[in-house]
Amino acid sequence: MKTSPTHVLKFGGSSLQTTDLIRQAAELVSARTNNTRPVVVVSAIDGVTDQLIALADGNFENTDSPPPQITQLKQQHLEYFDTLISADHPNRPLLNDLFTELEAITKDQIFRKNNRYAWRDQLLSIGERASALIFASLLSHWDIPAHAREAQHFIKTDSSFGRAQVDLDTTRNLIQQAVSSADGIPVITGFIGSNDDKQITTLGRSGSDYTAGLVASALDAERLEIWTDVNGVLTADPKWVPGAESIQQLSFADISELSAHGANVIHPQTIRPLQNTDTAVVVKNSHNPVHPGTLI
Ligand code: ASP
Ligand code: MG
Repeated sequence: MKTSPTHVLKFGGSSLQTTDLIRQAAELVSARTNNTRPVVVVSAIDGVTDQLIALADGNFENTDSPPPQITQLKQQHLEYFDTLISADHPNRPLLNDLFTELEAITKDQIFRKNNRYAWRDQLLSIGERASALIFASLLSHWDIPAHAREAQHFIKTDSSFGRAQVDLDTTRNLIQQAVSSADGIPVITGFIGSNDDKQITTLGRSGSDYTAGLVASALDAERLEIWTDVNGVLTADPKWVPGAESIQQLSFADISELSAHGANVIHPQTIRPLQNTDTAVVVKNSHNPVHPGTLI
């Protein structure tokens, strides 16, 4: 039996900013089910990681009511869920549970005192875990079998919380096991892993790209698509250079150089696992999906 080629589609926060963008992303995945095997990697919804960081680093009194940021984040995610899916879908309580967990971690002063960085990473993990759950629920709501996969179960790292280093060999095997045993489309949380003590770690800001690179490499993917909010890799940062143009094609060496010099396109480590493989890496714009983007 011929197996379909694997396409890893990674959606950054800016590609999941609104319910319309989430729907568009899920449609892209759905269209891919005909002749390929899609695997999804998601970031947290735009701005959520920043808010979680502000929560972790802020001062909060140990009061009985949840900090307002949590209430607001919970409301936003549940609203997205209800708009995209429905308030009585069986996964909704799971989404609600994530915010109960967030509240519990936030209040866990003992955990916080014992290991502030482990505490912080577990808190930050809620963003990706919530977006993966919403995305997978939307696909299953459309009768496309899909499951959220929390990457702390298969991305193994050291204990440098906040910028954990991945154990590549173990992770590769675990990804293969986790994803091949998966029925339906795996929707994987970017950004997070876990150490030997099963504590959640994070891979550094924008680390979901790296997760996608690891997944694409372990699965020998034909294609890795990084969906973002610019037309692929640009000649300059459009924030400063309004006329910045999209580069059609780049080599692995070019992109490593660009990201090492701070080009804000993809996480510098993203493509390292894909060097010397046949995987095509394509950077595409969710806000302008017809643009060809950049091929690496
Ligand atoms: N959500 C994380 C961040 O904002 C990871 C990512 O977006 O890739 O840094
Ligand atoms: Mg992000």
